[in-house]
Amino acid sequence: MSRPPNTVEDSPEKKWVALMIKSAKKQHKLCPYFDKKTFQCLLMATVEGRVGKCNRDGKFDGCPIFTKFLEKVYGYYTERGKTLPKDFQDVVSQAFIV
Ligand code: SF4
Repeated sequence: MSRPPNTVEDSPEKKWVALMIKSAKKQHKLCPYFDKKTFQCLLMATVEGRVGKCNRDGKFDGCPIFTKFLEKVYGYYTERGKTLPKDFQDVVSQAFIV
């Protein structure tokens, strides 16, 4: 039996976040917000309002902070009626404006 439509995974937000993660994986081996020298997560301040280290060695696929950041970007665009980026490269520099 096929699963019903309109599950959470089918939401436009989840689809867009998945698209961005796929796009990011093509462009980045490691998280672009991972400071390799200090191990700091440069997104943590934006997403969680605190400074902290990455405990994932920069592996962003499945990272809750990376995902939350993309959800924030989604909200930023949709609340303003802006067209959502189709490429992660257009999002990468927005870590500090959402
Ligand atoms: S915690 Fe997540 S968002 Fe932060 S640097 Fe590590 S992989 Fe990237």
